[in-house]
Amino acid sequence: MTEPRLPLIHHPGYSFDWPARHPFPMAKFHALRARLSELGFDDDPAVEWITPPPAHDRQLLRVHTPAYLQTFHLGDADPLARKRSGFPWSPALVRRTLLEVGGTLATLEAALRTGLACNTAGGTHHAYPDAASGYCLLNDLAIAAREAIEMHGIRQVLIIDCDVHQGDGTAWAFRHEPRVFTFSIHGEHNFPFTKRESDLDMALPRGTGDEDYLTMLERHVPALLERLQPELVLYDAGADVHAGDRLGHFELSHAGVTRRDRFVLKQCLMADIPVAAVIGGGYDRDLAALADRHARLHCVARELWRQR
Ligand SMILES: [Zn+2]
Repeated sequence: MTEPRLPLIHHPGYSFDWPARHPFPMAKFHALRARLSELGFDDDPAVEWITPPPAHDRQLLRVHTPAYLQTFHLGDADPLARKRSGFPWSPALVRRTLLEVGGTLATLEAALRTGLACNTAGGTHHAYPDAASGYCLLNDLAIAAREAIEMHGIRQVLIIDCDVHQGDGTAWAFRHEPRVFTFSIHGEHNFPFTKRESDLDMALPRGTGDEDYLTMLERHVPALLERLQPELVLYDAGADVHAGDRLGHFELSHAGVTRRDRFVLKQCLMADIPVAAVIGGGYDRDLAALADRHARLHCVARELWRQR
């Protein structure tokens, strides 16, 4: 039997032709893939690259309402609703969004098979069942959690959302669902300005640095794994906690973000809980710097994979 390889999920269609001046760095997925090539991920025998298919409507409908999905596919006639997404609607945007959700679903499948898998996109946690919000059209984390429950018989999912912004859409989607526990650690005074109640929220002040942040994680993650005994962890490794991020208000260093990812992944692996990781938010005009921040997740995953 051949040794299992670390599954990394990427589709070239995650990035597509996008207005250069738009504040969302759509080219970052392509830049991240290129950075991973530079870091030796292409010809690494320990790594398996997977190209995902687009998500199917039947998978989206486990979270999103039929009326909202129609709007998602056809564009919203209401200018206010269009503004809430933060994106200019186009058929090409619909296609790449379906690929991104398909990527997180493929990451889930791969994690259940091998114990650990990482997407090079995903973490669109602001999308609500019936509305887009904050650069998020579909909630890939929520769709993956539902897929895990309904198609894989998973009885308890834990979502660890370490993006600097609160996972409001996910919290809302699962407010009545005990099989999905939502944990969000985020900036108190950052978007979304109306927070939703997760099962556990850690709201931290502006300027939070490595030590305070990691102390909180170290206090809560092992205890949650112990108490909930989840059969799956979905990990949002948002890079917007980094001190250099344009939209984050935290001061985590490069080493701090790396320690965070290593800590979360290692806790899951030690407890033998499959973990599917997505990259979450990250905003910088300097795409090379941003891609390198996101690549920490994949580097840490590979390091832990080799130590197994
Ligand atoms: Zn974010």
